[in-house]
Amino acid sequence: MEMLEIIKQLSSLYKKFPTVGSKSATRLAYATLNLTSDERKQLIEALEYCNVKLSKCPTCGSFFEDKCPFCSDPNREKDKILVVSDSKDIYSIENTNSYKGLYYTLNGLLSPLKNQDQEKIGINKLYAKVINEKIKEVILALPTSFEGENTSFYISHLFKNDKVSVTRIAYGIPVGTNLEYLDQLTISRSLNGRKEMDKE
Ligand SMILES: [Zn+2]
Repeated sequence: MEMLEIIKQLSSLYKKFPTVGSKSATRLAYATLNLTSDERKQLIEALEYCNVKLSKCPTCGSFFEDKCPFCSDPNREKDKILVVSDSKDIYSIENTNSYKGLYYTLNGLLSPLKNQDQEKIGINKLYAKVINEKIKEVILALPTSFEGENTSFYISHLFKNDKVSVTRIAYGIPVGTNLEYLDQLTISRSLNGRKEMDKE
């Protein structure tokens, strides 16, 4: 028997989620059909809530209902900006209580293969913000992957003629690890032990 059209549709949507391949997507699609109709209703309501109530901050990329809790907070230190490639990393850093500056989320990482350039991922916008708002320190907390390293070096080089300090969090963190998997103490230490980057 041919797979139900709705299973195909649901699977192709679930495949958009991180780490979900074809098989898991199909499994999730069937699991959705196996939910009670009440559970499916809750799912619909939660998704509808995301659609109607939530906005994404164009600067730091965090989600909010009313106004961005970081960019609009007058008590944040406005002379520091911490750069991540995924807005969920902001919450890993916030949980440490070690950082009170601003945030900026890139739209990905520099990757010639995926045709990601500095304009698309928002590096030009970051540069303009730092210069216009006289931010003194750019703290890079990008992944330690090849693309992450490449992007960190590109950004530090960009500021070579500016009086802006570019630092990166101290990766005593194993290569390839994402912030979301680290405990608060490790993140807090790597933040406090951040190092100045060579701009050349
Ligand atoms: Zn924001």
